[in-house]
Amino acid sequence: MTVIEENIALLKQQIPGSVRLIAVSKAVAVKDILAAYNAGQRDFGENRVQELINKKDELPGDIKWHLIGHLQSNKVKYVAPFVSMIHSVDSFRLLSVIDKEAGKAGRVVDCLLQVHIADETTKFGFLPEEVYKMIEEENPLQLSNIHICGVMGMATFTDDRQKIRNEFSKLFTTYTIIKESYFTDHAYFRELSMGMSGDYKLAVEEGSTMVRIGSLIFGERNKIF
Ligand SMILES: *Cc1c(COP(=O)(O)O)cnc(C)c1O
Repeated sequence: MTVIEENIALLKQQIPGSVRLIAVSKAVAVKDILAAYNAGQRDFGENRVQELINKKDELPGDIKWHLIGHLQSNKVKYVAPFVSMIHSVDSFRLLSVIDKEAGKAGRVVDCLLQVHIADETTKFGFLPEEVYKMIEEENPLQLSNIHICGVMGMATFTDDRQKIRNEFSKLFTTYTIIKESYFTDHAYFRELSMGMSGDYKLAVEEGSTMVRIGSLIFGERNKIF
């Protein structure tokens, strides 16, 4: 077994079968992504559009690509034809552009609403009150080429475990309120994307359905990421 295969096997023992593992492959070489693929991994996450489209063509066609980083409206057209899920939707305008480009590609694109739960002011996303307001005012459920499948969030980068737990718990509450208020008739709203290498265990305890893990699988990245 390669180190990457071992890391995936270890992680699979740590997370329940009902939680999907997204292997975050940003800044990871194609050969290492292939090692993960050969270990059975099919869901991969990238945070930059350019990097994603470059790598995609060199890798097997049955990979499910998740876009997890900030997405600019003018780049949606490059990913709409193939992306499996966009985790980082932070405005109604972006949702409507995704809807338009998905329509052109003859697809329905799965999206998550990114919710800001951390202290850092630099992290993108709606505040919980802003998500409710956006859904009330814009009625995004009318967009027929997207499915809003749930929410995504990132906890503060800190050693304070209780603080991280509280933030995940807040995201779970936000998820539940949205689901019960607006999506009771839409079974596809069922994903809570939270948890990274440093905090995935807490995230799973707090109800995560998708963990996005990079460094525990592929090793430490260059710090610019
Ligand atoms: C990089 C990244 C991850 C994975 O981070 P690790 O700490 O390497 O597991 C998860 N989610 C997002 C949005 C990221 O940008």
